[in-house]
Amino acid sequence: MNWRIPLADIDFGQEEYEAVEAVLKSKWLTMGAVTQQFENDFSAYTKIEHCIAVSNCTAALHLAMVALGIGDEDEVIVPSLSFVATANAVRYTGAKPIFADINDINDLNISVSSIQSHITHKTKAIIVMHYGGYACDMKAILALARTHQLYVVVDAAHAVGASLDGKQLGGWGDIGCFSFFPNKNMTTAEGGLVATNNAELASKIRLLRSHGMTSITWDRHQGHAWSYDVVELGYNFRIDEIRAALGVAQLKKLPSNNHKRRWLTNEYWHRLEREVPEVSLPFRGHRGESACHIMPVILPEGMDRTAIMERMKGQGIQTSIHYPPIHLFSDYRKQGAIPMVEKTEDLAKRELTLPLFAGMEIDEVNLVVAALKASFA
Ligand SMILES: *Cc1c(COP(=O)(O)O)cnc(C)c1O
Repeated sequence: MNWRIPLADIDFGQEEYEAVEAVLKSKWLTMGAVTQQFENDFSAYTKIEHCIAVSNCTAALHLAMVALGIGDEDEVIVPSLSFVATANAVRYTGAKPIFADINDINDLNISVSSIQSHITHKTKAIIVMHYGGYACDMKAILALARTHQLYVVVDAAHAVGASLDGKQLGGWGDIGCFSFFPNKNMTTAEGGLVATNNAELASKIRLLRSHGMTSITWDRHQGHAWSYDVVELGYNFRIDEIRAALGVAQLKKLPSNNHKRRWLTNEYWHRLEREVPEVSLPFRGHRGESACHIMPVILPEGMDRTAIMERMKGQGIQTSIHYPPIHLFSDYRKQGAIPMVEKTEDLAKRELTLPLFAGMEIDEVNLVVAALKASFA
């Protein structure tokens, strides 16, 4: 469909085309110098010491679970209001995702008291997801995790470039996982990254990324190694040079693009408050500096969201939902008892995501707000 205003858009220019062309001409395509540069650049930007680029964020989350030794009989507390990969990563290891509820209509992030109420002797870790790039209550979550000796993994798919107290959100916790899927704040097509300040976890994750092998093709090409051993049951979760080159170029634009997203979000809030007072605006005045990955609004109770989305579509404006709760998917219902996450179920029915991307113009914000107002009439 040809949208007048799409939900998201990609900021590609000459830099990306040239970066990809240079890799193609070099004929070195699997992980090598460009991947190393991307990892170094990402580490310098986020100030997280060890950055390991992988094939996607789902693989990053999976590697985080494996590196922390999570497996059969273990429980990992996760939000239900997230993308399904957050919980799938737990299940790949044989462990069980335990769903915690959100805070409230103003804060769609995982609630600390809900996490607390789900901790058992089987709990090994918590995965937090910074919804829209807005910070979870990390101080309270880390304090709780310390008390119960739990690992904290950050699903930072929405939060690239976002921070709390000046520290990148992906760096609060044991391991941070990033996504560079095309609809995220920066993209490598498919792509992801694992970030940690723990050297031991980092070397384990590097091994697991590539078959648990002690040397990679690049080392052998460089003449650094002739053979290798396999020391763990690893995976092929590698990124490649084409994607890494996109990452290097996209990361350079991230600070200014995130700045634009924050500005657009503020403009949205001012206009929506005035023009469509019926909707609630979560995360307004929230802690930290957001990556403003998406623009969520909460519709009034009982309102027909599908009808609103249809009317928006009629005006050429793409909208979306973040998210259908994970625990309600058919494959998750099969897993056993339905968790008590009433706020998640209520708010998920009422959430509507409006278009937001760095290249968006203020006229387009005005159009979306006018269309939403008209959809209510
Ligand atoms: C996009 C996303 C993922 C998955 O990322 P991929 O790179 O597509 O695997 C995981 N969690 C959240 C919250 C996401 O938005």
